[in-house]
Amino acid sequence: MEEQDVYIEERIFFSDRVISVEKTMMKKSEAEWKKILTPDEFKVLRKKGTEPPFTGKYVHQAAEGTYICAGCGNLLFSSEKKFGSGSGWPSFSATVAPDAVVVKPDNSLFMKRIEVVCAQCGGHLGHVFDDGPLPTGKRYCMNSISLRFVEKNKLKKS
Ligand SMILES: [Zn+2]
Repeated sequence: MEEQDVYIEERIFFSDRVISVEKTMMKKSEAEWKKILTPDEFKVLRKKGTEPPFTGKYVHQAAEGTYICAGCGNLLFSSEKKFGSGSGWPSFSATVAPDAVVVKPDNSLFMKRIEVVCAQCGGHLGHVFDDGPLPTGKRYCMNSISLRFVEKNKLKKS
């Protein structure tokens, strides 16, 4: 029952932000996205698909670096917050910044989940759950295909 309360609170808290972010989100037509993304990326990022567990290239990625949005390059996650969740998808306990992503209720597939989208382009990244490690208690369960990994020493442009 506590979980339910948290869920409702988040819902209310984030609903205002979703509206404001959606107004400013990068607007591209489907045709434009199809030119930029591979068919598989398009399926997940723009059509809210989910890659099968243990198939993504970042599930076991342990190198130090940053994960950016595959759609627009927005900085999303740091390897510091990545942990092995055993779920089959790359999992993080926090985003690099509170405004990197936007979350919204997703009641599809008869489940109450919270969808995570890129705050810059609105691309579907995955879902966030409340069973992650402390101190955040969050588990951002992401699709590898929605992310691009940039190794630490390659992040700074020379
Ligand atoms: Zn993006």
